Amino acid sequence: MKLLKSKIKDSTTEIMPPQKNKKLFVFLFIGGMVFAYIGLGVGGVLGIAILLGGMICIIAGIMQIIGVSECVCPDCEAKGFIFKYAKDYKCKSCGTISEIVEKDDK
Ligand SMILES: [Zn+2]
Repeated sequence: MKLLKSKIKDSTTEIMPPQKNKKLFVFLFIGGMVFAYIGLGVGGVLGIAILLGGMICIIAGIMQIIGVSECVCPDCEAKGFIFKYAKDYKCKSCGTISEIVEKDDK
């Protein structure tokens, strides 16, 4: 089990096991490609907006295949996501960097 350890306070939060979803990856990736293609065809501000939407779908899809864990910031309790191979976690809400520590509960 992995924990997020605050460098400021004496508090830790659990990191959920990473979720992998290949079906969702395929769905988001193809959907994103279609949106990006439409965006390029439309052009202009609307096209860029559609293209960005497509890119976000592709990134969200790639996150599904890498394996991201849901986590909670030990400082401000804001929810976030953490990549499987991350060394530390930077909270998007309060900007604090938390340490990732391994915990043996055997
Ligand atoms: Zn925070």
